[in-house]
Amino acid sequence: MNIIDIIVKKKNSEILTEEEIKYVIDNYMNDNIKDYQMSSLLMAIVINGMNLDETIFLTKAMIESGDVINLDELGSIIDKHSTGGVGDKTTLILAPLVASCGVKIAKMSGRGLGHTGGTIDKLEAIEGFKTSLTEEEFINQVKDIGIAITSQTGNLTPADKKIYSLRDVTGTTESIPLIASSIMSKKIASGANNIIIDVKVGNGALMKKVDDARKLSETMIKIGEAYNRNVICVLTNMDEPLGNAIGNGLEVKEAIDVLKGEGPKDITELTLKLAAIMIGLDKKVTLDEALEQINASIENGKAYQKFEELVSRQNGNIENVEIASKVVSVKSSKDGFISHIDTVKLGNIVRNLGAGRISKEDIIDYGVGIVLNKKVGDFVLENEEILKIYVNNKDVNVKDLLECFTIENNGEKKKKLIIDIIGM
Ligand code: URA
Repeated sequence: MNIIDIIVKKKNSEILTEEEIKYVIDNYMNDNIKDYQMSSLLMAIVINGMNLDETIFLTKAMIESGDVINLDELGSIIDKHSTGGVGDKTTLILAPLVASCGVKIAKMSGRGLGHTGGTIDKLEAIEGFKTSLTEEEFINQVKDIGIAITSQTGNLTPADKKIYSLRDVTGTTESIPLIASSIMSKKIASGANNIIIDVKVGNGALMKKVDDARKLSETMIKIGEAYNRNVICVLTNMDEPLGNAIGNGLEVKEAIDVLKGEGPKDITELTLKLAAIMIGLDKKVTLDEALEQINASIENGKAYQKFEELVSRQNGNIENVEIASKVVSVKSSKDGFISHIDTVKLGNIVRNLGAGRISKEDIIDYGVGIVLNKKVGDFVLENEEILKIYVNNKDVNVKDLLECFTIENNGEKKKKLIIDIIGM
């Protein structure tokens, strides 16, 4: 067996065997297969796809590349994952919120991918926050305080970690089999039995069309079935950034606002819905009963306290979240309704400012980003502020930023945030 034959096979749209897929993962992990060969195979998979069997074999090979955590001693564990969007800080809110209602959260999160941000990069905007826990630390923390968030450290799915960072910088992010196997390998290896996946759809998401998001959801549900895990997919709109803040430190600040009941409406609505599904599943209560518990936890301050507890347990200093000091106000050049936001372009502008990586070795600038003042459907006056941009040492191209916004005479109706729930 050799990698060139396997690349050519996929280039010709042929189906790979379990042995071939295992060979690729094993040999990429021991460096016999080089990054350039793996990139070529990934691109062939992006273009020609994989069937369900191949996707399950890929998931299996990635799980078997490392350890599998057994969380049985913690009882039922619920995990949540997002396919990634611009401004998506739901995990930062959801995890402490749900934990403050007595549901155990053992969460393994990722870094940014393409134009989308990642929970671990966001948490690292908090001074001192330790994002890599050993398995023992991870389990003990969940036992002690009911919540832990770690990056893919230790030896959990190291193959996903290596492939994910290669995909981030080789234009190979948007692929159902690659996304499904990446997410499900992590979720299965990290031990959760109930898994909620927020599948983003729209111009700012990896999945642009609802039909593709459904296919991705069905694939992940089937992989879950093969491993005896309960998977629920919530399809949510990503035609504009979620919330107002984009950029690591700024998103942490916004997450804190939501936990205190003072956050933007869209991110609050989505987080509360996802939290209700998680609590409903875990405690076997109705969504309305779960919502009551959630609202109480926000109002009595327990949700925010749980976040503080998580941060201090992982050595972070909540008083010091990195935010860039130079702030530029970007104003509209005309009156009208905002009918469209080019969310990928906006995400890429923030990434290029330093909030994400362009090459694998890049160091992130946690303080930079954007805070939107106007979103789709809002009216804006000429010279009124559309957004603020937070920068350190890079120049701001205002024209590029303004080009992300389409302003028309007629307002477009806001799309529904939650499009569908599959698997419940
Ligand atoms: N999230 C992941 O963990 N992997 C992907 O490929 C996309 C989103």
